[in-house]
Amino acid sequence: MTRIFSGIQPSGELHVGNYLGAVKNWVALQQGAESLFCIVDYHAITAPYEPMLLRSRRRDLAFGLLAAGIDPARATLFVQSDVPEHTELAWIFNTVTPLGELERQVQFKEKAQRQDSVLAGLLNYPVLQAADILLYRADTVPVGEDQVQHLELSRVIARRWNAQFAPDADFFPEPQPLLTPTRRIMGLDGQAKMSKSLGNTIGLLESPDEIWAKLRPAVTDPKRIRRTDPGTPEVCNIYHLHRAFSEPATVQHVAVQCSTAGWGCIDCKKVLAESIETELVPIRGRAAQLMAEPSRVDDARAAGAAKARVLAKETMRGVRDRMGFD
Ligand code: SF4
Repeated sequence: MTRIFSGIQPSGELHVGNYLGAVKNWVALQQGAESLFCIVDYHAITAPYEPMLLRSRRRDLAFGLLAAGIDPARATLFVQSDVPEHTELAWIFNTVTPLGELERQVQFKEKAQRQDSVLAGLLNYPVLQAADILLYRADTVPVGEDQVQHLELSRVIARRWNAQFAPDADFFPEPQPLLTPTRRIMGLDGQAKMSKSLGNTIGLLESPDEIWAKLRPAVTDPKRIRRTDPGTPEVCNIYHLHRAFSEPATVQHVAVQCSTAGWGCIDCKKVLAESIETELVPIRGRAAQLMAEPSRVDDARAAGAAKARVLAKETMRGVRDRMGFD
C-alpha cells in the first residue's frame, strides 16, 4: 500500500484555505493509502513565536483536523515534537546536504530578504522537512505547488544518503509529489493567499452568521461597479470560491448570471454561503462531538505518536547501523 506523509504548521485555527488546499485531500487519501499526517511544530519555531500560543495552537489544530474528517482509525495523526527521531534524522541529513542547495531554495530567499538577521533554522527548514518525510520512508507526499522545490531537495538528500551509506539498497525511497487538486485559495480581500495572519480567512468552525459577515463585504470583480454592469467571473475570487464549494451546475449558472448581470454580487454571495454551509455542516457536527468529549483529541494525539514512533525507530535503527552508530 502507498504510504503518504504530509505536514501542517500549527499557525492557528483551520480556515477554508487550509481545508481546500490540503486537509480535504487528506481526508480523501486516508481511505486508500497508509497515511501519516503531522502537526509540524518544530517548523513553526523558525519564526518568532509565543510558547503559550504554540501549545494552544497545536491542540486547536489537532481538534480542527479531527473535526475536518481525519479519522485516527485510518490515519496516523501526530505532533512532530512527540517523535524526537525527526530532529535526529534532520541533523544527520544536514551532514549530507550541500549549503548551496539550501541557499537556492526560493522560499528561503524570499523569507531571508524580509529579515535583518537570518537564523540557521530558516535555512535548514527543508532538511527537517526531508527528515519528516524520509523518517517514515513515505513514497508519496501531497503538496501544493509552492512545496515542490522542497520535495525535490528531499529526493536529492535521499539519493545522496543512499549513495554514501546504502549503495547496495535504496534504503530511503525518493518521495514523489501528489499535487493537491485545488489551487491555492485567495483570501476574502482578493489580494493574497488566505492566511490567518492577514485576517482574510473564513474559519472552518465559524457560524453561518460569522461567515456571512465576512462574505458580504468580500472583494469581487473590481470593474463591476453598478448592479447592471456585467462581470467577469474569472477575475473574481467569489467565483473561484464557488468553484471550490458549489456543484458544477451552480458554478456554470454563476458564470452566466455574472456575465449577463442577471445577478448582483450579493445574490451570488448568498448562493456561495449556502454551498459553504453544505460543506461545513458535517465538520461542525464532528466538532460538537469533540467538544462534548475533549479527551478524544489528546487520546488521538498520544495514539498517533505511539504509532509513528514505531516506524521512526525502525528507520533510525537502519540509519544508525549503516552509519556506524550501533
Ligand atoms: Fe463575482 Fe459573483 Fe459578483 Fe460575478 S456576480 S463579480 S462572480 S460576486
